[in-house]
Amino acid sequence: MLAHPTTGVSEVLKRFENAKFTCEYKYDGERAQIHLKEDGSIHIYSRNSEDNTTKYPDIIKRLQNSVGEDVKSCVIDSEAVAWDKEKEQILPFQILSTRKRKDAVESEIKVQVCVFPFDLLYLNGEALVREPLEKRRELLRKNFKEVEGEFVFAKSMDSTNTEDIQEFLEESIKGNCEGLMVKSLDIDATYEIAKRSHNWLKLKKDYLDGCGDTLDVVVMGGFSGKGKRAGQYGGFLLGCYDTENEEFQTICKIGTGFTDENLAQHAEFLKKHVIEKPKSYYSFDKSVEPDQWFEPVQVWEIKCADLSVSPVHKAGAGIVDPEKGISLRFPRFLRIRDDKKPEEATSAQQVAEMYNNQDQIKNKQKDDKAVNEEDFY
Ligand code: AMP
Repeated sequence: MLAHPTTGVSEVLKRFENAKFTCEYKYDGERAQIHLKEDGSIHIYSRNSEDNTTKYPDIIKRLQNSVGEDVKSCVIDSEAVAWDKEKEQILPFQILSTRKRKDAVESEIKVQVCVFPFDLLYLNGEALVREPLEKRRELLRKNFKEVEGEFVFAKSMDSTNTEDIQEFLEESIKGNCEGLMVKSLDIDATYEIAKRSHNWLKLKKDYLDGCGDTLDVVVMGGFSGKGKRAGQYGGFLLGCYDTENEEFQTICKIGTGFTDENLAQHAEFLKKHVIEKPKSYYSFDKSVEPDQWFEPVQVWEIKCADLSVSPVHKAGAGIVDPEKGISLRFPRFLRIRDDKKPEEATSAQQVAEMYNNQDQIKNKQKDDKAVNEEDFY
């Protein structure tokens, strides 16, 4: 099965609107489809069905440590990834590609691999490809055992919360992965052999670079932190400046991109500027009200993945939509802009321009027809 590339989380959320889905790390290695036959023989195939069996004697030897007692035969879909045993971390694909391609001798292998199984296509004489992923995944987890650094289930998270997905995406990239694979768990979740399917979407790290431009926004309020961020702010409410109405309009909440030092610094500074109630020139929706409002005293440079029309945020309200404003997806903090006054923040008009300049919006404006279903299946 191949994955459909996605441009962003908005596409992911739209695509999976009514379906349960999971996000998995997208490991940067080589596809290893492991076939265990009843006679005990094991074969490993690549994404293009090349026989890689003699490339991976190590995987074959170790498989027995992970196969459960009741498993007589199976086909596991996995990614084989170069693995640094000492540091216990994933190594880049380039390292994996230095491995001998055929007839490798186990004692001579220098680049260790860890197998990350993400699917189970066949078990004890039964094909599972018509079962939904949720079931296949359950059977995978039930019938196989993880062995640290050797056989580890693809890390996954089942959540529809945009911020959770963002954090998971960032975590995957920090862990030397390519991004995420987003997969439907129930609806249309059968395994489509060698077909480019929308059941699987890729969310790659380039997506985080998103719209290349950065925005300068005003910090309007703070949300109390929990856990590690207790006693500080865990997130902030940001806004742009509408020069026409002379008001600050909320554009997003932000909770990522901060180092521990950043958070301490922000708490120390912003606590001095807490106000009892929002300014009359703050435009916001009740649903995003922060725990504390601040005077408009600081401008932050932030980056985002994309801009979308928002049911709650007010940036540029009335410009691209008669009522709704624009919000930023996946905002990340870059730095404080001490050189800018709040009124010099990115304006509502600029935000609307940035929204309209996005490729997908430009294309949509060019050809504002309903999406051709053919493209989806
Ligand atoms: P792409 O080659 O970019 O279309 O992405 C599909 C490839 O990603 C698959 O052929 C796998 O080799 C690899 N991959 C890595 N992690 C996963 C995962 N969690 N689920 C599915 N495929 C994965």
